[in-house]
Amino acid sequence: VEFEHCGFPATLSRNLKKAGYEAPTPVQMQMVPVGLSGRDVIASADTGSGKTVAFMLPVVVGALKTAVRTVCSPLALILTPTRELAIQIERQAKELVMGLPNMRTALLVGGMPLPQQLHRLKSSIKIVIATPGRLLEILRQKAVQLNKVKVVVVDEVDTMLKMGFQQQVLEVLEHVPKEHQTLLASATIPTGTEELAARLVQDPVRIAI
Ligand code: AMP
Repeated sequence: VEFEHCGFPATLSRNLKKAGYEAPTPVQMQMVPVGLSGRDVIASADTGSGKTVAFMLPVVVGALKTAVRTVCSPLALILTPTRELAIQIERQAKELVMGLPNMRTALLVGGMPLPQQLHRLKSSIKIVIATPGRLLEILRQKAVQLNKVKVVVVDEVDTMLKMGFQQQVLEVLEHVPKEHQTLLASATIPTGTEELAARLVQDPVRIAI
């Protein structure tokens, strides 16, 4: 299988090729079709497996199909525990959406100046990549609304728990419409992670790499 033959929009196919991604990795092979089908996913996949592109492809394809253009109301929310991971995710997201119209991303993370992040939200943003604390701060200021979000990704669920972000993740999700798709990724899925995951998904497809 090669990405070229997956039927993605031409610009997206070209971006995959430009990034040097010819064939999907195993987690991409499993997660992308399920993600595109609209089902929830719990994937045990570690850094290095290609999990970021695995969840980002359904996010981008879904966002391309939804034509709303509203300020402050992204269609996709990606939650990740650390600033470094968020930066890496945004970099890969930008690689995929290059040249696609109206597909801007915003990075909402702690440890970086807030005013720039607020400023970016004043234009149309499709994909928000955030750490839970900073996102809650911005939600309290009503500078972003999550009422149009159709897909939520929670990356590194196990790390979220270890860092004590469970309540913050759940609080963020109270701002998202009940009807949404959830894609979860976690390196390992011990009992605690399983319990949090169960609160976030409905009838999930499980993927283990
Ligand atoms: P991740 O597991 O998301 O942290 O990705 C690990 C690395 O694999 C990243 O640097 C990606 O750019 C790269 N990558 C993701 N998908 C592919 C692919 N299909 N082919 C080659 N490299 C990839």
